[in-house]
Amino acid sequence: MNKFPQKFLWGAATSAHQVEGQNIHNDWWQAEQEHFIKETSNSACKHYELYPEDFTIAQQLNHNCHRFSIEWSRIEPIEGNFQVSEIEHYRKIIADLKNKGMEPVVTLHHFTNPLWFSQKGGWTKLKLQKYFLRFVDKMVREFADQVKFWITINEPLVYSTHSYLLGVWPPGEHSLFKTAKVTLNLASAHIKAYRIIHQIYRQKNLQEPRVSIAANLQAFEICRPTLKNRFAAYLRDRVYNFYFIEVLLRKKTLDYIGVNYYGRNLADARSWRIRHLLLDTCQDNHYPLRKNFLGWDIYPQGLFKLLISLKKYNLDVLITENGVCTLEDTLRWDYIREHLKELSRAINCGVRVIGYIYWSLIDNFEWAEGFAPRFGLVQMDYQSYKRTIRPSAEKLAEVIKNGEI
Ligand code: BGC
Repeated sequence: MNKFPQKFLWGAATSAHQVEGQNIHNDWWQAEQEHFIKETSNSACKHYELYPEDFTIAQQLNHNCHRFSIEWSRIEPIEGNFQVSEIEHYRKIIADLKNKGMEPVVTLHHFTNPLWFSQKGGWTKLKLQKYFLRFVDKMVREFADQVKFWITINEPLVYSTHSYLLGVWPPGEHSLFKTAKVTLNLASAHIKAYRIIHQIYRQKNLQEPRVSIAANLQAFEICRPTLKNRFAAYLRDRVYNFYFIEVLLRKKTLDYIGVNYYGRNLADARSWRIRHLLLDTCQDNHYPLRKNFLGWDIYPQGLFKLLISLKKYNLDVLITENGVCTLEDTLRWDYIREHLKELSRAINCGVRVIGYIYWSLIDNFEWAEGFAPRFGLVQMDYQSYKRTIRPSAEKLAEVIKNGEI
């Protein structure tokens, strides 16, 4: 049996566009209407209305924290036009979580942008960053006294590569140059947002907040042991896993490290061209592992290795996402159990892990993949919006109650 630390944070995550429904003022909604994205998010999980029910479920499952995102395009659907009623909506969300004994972990950017912002050029233009910072400033002034944990930007590199390199997310571009630019602009936006957040807490005489990003970390490994593949895996590890974090660390703008971990990426580069070194993955079954519904390799050991590699930064680590999409709930429980064991092993080796947040509380709109992948601890019926707790959720609740696995 492995014990988890006292006061460990246990919870699940969602993001606004994936669960709320009717986020009609953002760039994703637009791309969905134009059929650039195969399904439309539509009413999603109706979480905008049904959040009290979802939070009651999380409470029943013994969660003591919950991660969600504030939808910028709801707050500011038109440039400069801030919606008081939407600010009040998120105030109610935070109050409901607190009443139900859950610490809010608030994300300020989770892939979507207000349409007006993306039409001006979005994150490709450094000068537009001021709009995001104004939104951050407003939200933090509103909620500082209720919120301790902030995540400025979710998976900056996943956003920049999917939107500007692979072209599978809006605005669907294929430019290495723009990808680099967007990545740097996101880094600088985080650094400034971090300072704004801390300054507001100081002005308000509040206890220091805890601010980070949610970094997507992958276990980069190789199939064929060639020099090219070794170099590709090394390069990916540096670029995707550590580059962003290290820039922010040098600027002293991470209070903890938010880690999103899903599994393994098996490098198999077709050539020495940078694109191939950074992107090509093995399509053969050299080392077959269990896979999730989307075909991603399940690789719990990778979490341990990555956590150990974060030890040198001497910061707290919060698992801000870890989860599996599957139609077999027994696989979900295996996934959770095995990852928690690796997590506990890392804690025993001295990694300061302060919490585990599963992705996701409820099945939801999985971006370009639509509604088919099922990540939820809670099953969603998209006809009736009925929520059904899965057995894996109950098993996790038991672990939380006992504080050990
Ligand atoms: C994102 C979530 C997404 C999940 C599963 C993460 O990349 O933050 O929005 O649903 O992974 O793909």
